[in-house]
Amino acid sequence: MKPKSLGLNTICTHVGEVEDKQFKGAISPIYMSSSYAYEDVEVKRYPRYFNTPNQEALCKKIAMLEKSEAGLIFGSGMAAVSTTMLAFLHKGDHVVLPQTLYGGTYNFVVEEFDKFGIEFSFTEGFSEDNFSEKIQDNTKVIFVETPSNPLMRITDLEMISRLAKQRGIVTMIDNTFASPVNQTPADFGIDIMIHSATKYMGGHSDICAGAVAASEEHIKIIWNLAKNLGGSLSDYTVWLLERSMKTMVLRVKAQNKNAKKMAKWLENHPLVEQVYYPGLKNHPEHKLAKKQMKGYTGMLSFEINESLDVSLFLNSLKLIKPSMSLAGVESTILSPAKTSHGLLSAEARKEQGISDGLLRFSVGIEETEDLIADLQGAFKKLTKMEKI
Ligand SMILES: *Cc1c(COP(=O)(O)O)cnc(C)c1O
Repeated sequence: MKPKSLGLNTICTHVGEVEDKQFKGAISPIYMSSSYAYEDVEVKRYPRYFNTPNQEALCKKIAMLEKSEAGLIFGSGMAAVSTTMLAFLHKGDHVVLPQTLYGGTYNFVVEEFDKFGIEFSFTEGFSEDNFSEKIQDNTKVIFVETPSNPLMRITDLEMISRLAKQRGIVTMIDNTFASPVNQTPADFGIDIMIHSATKYMGGHSDICAGAVAASEEHIKIIWNLAKNLGGSLSDYTVWLLERSMKTMVLRVKAQNKNAKKMAKWLENHPLVEQVYYPGLKNHPEHKLAKKQMKGYTGMLSFEINESLDVSLFLNSLKLIKPSMSLAGVESTILSPAKTSHGLLSAEARKEQGISDGLLRFSVGIEETEDLIADLQGAFKKLTKMEKI
């Protein structure tokens, strides 16, 4: 059987496993060695060269999931983002980035790029015009993040790749929110896929890792810098990530289904002003999401009236945890105004559409009846307070 014909679940379960030649165990052994022979070997292995047996094996799984030739895994999503961007951006180069961006990536760009002499522009929206008007003669990279955080806006991947290819620009996507289960950007001509594997790939809120998938040629360029920056991860974490990824498709599909149910329920709740979920027909880019995504993810956000007590609402939840991060099997909820966007002025938040009543909801695999009951209880607390 040609590996390319394998289905997602089969790739997750079988591809890139380390064979246990000695004992014939069913799962990959862990090679924790940080010292390998250099005489009479084809490859000189070392953890920071990203080529230990466990690293190499897991990269194959990730590459195949992203329909790419090769992959690399890193110690965090930000190690993957920063190494990949710096590998393709040199002094005097320019990068176009979207209006809204994961906080860590935004900070990396605005805090670090000046010292490398790299120019950058943020778009004012997500349309073709918004992107093309920012492209300059020295633009070398277009970086996108779709769906976006926290408002779940969708960028047209085919359009981005067309804009870039005409001009010899490299395209990168932070594909964390979608995961390879819901979106394979290579289908639309995007060059480099980046993940915070801390999220859906890990899926249990217990490991921090990053991943990149691309052509052999692009991975070689990234690797050349990666070995110097040193953002590799421990083989024990590699092994945990491999274990987690075996169930990724099952988890993500369950999360997609739950999120859609929760989005519909929230949409009809009298205290909810707005729900942002690409799977809802009233989402501004629903049609586009339908075209380029296979599922609408387990992420959504919703707005309760700004006059309501957000802290009381969050503290009244018993199952859904008000905590940072996302994509675990357990549901979590977060107020962007209090966390990721807390350092921005109220005005800057407003410009980005982040109200004080906005809540980002990472829907887990629990039974939706229990999640609904939990939210209902918290909403009741709010209405009780209002009457006092
Ligand atoms: C979490 C996250 C990152 C950063 O990943 P870390 O593993 O925390 O370094 C990057 N992009 C997105 C969209 C994320 O959600």
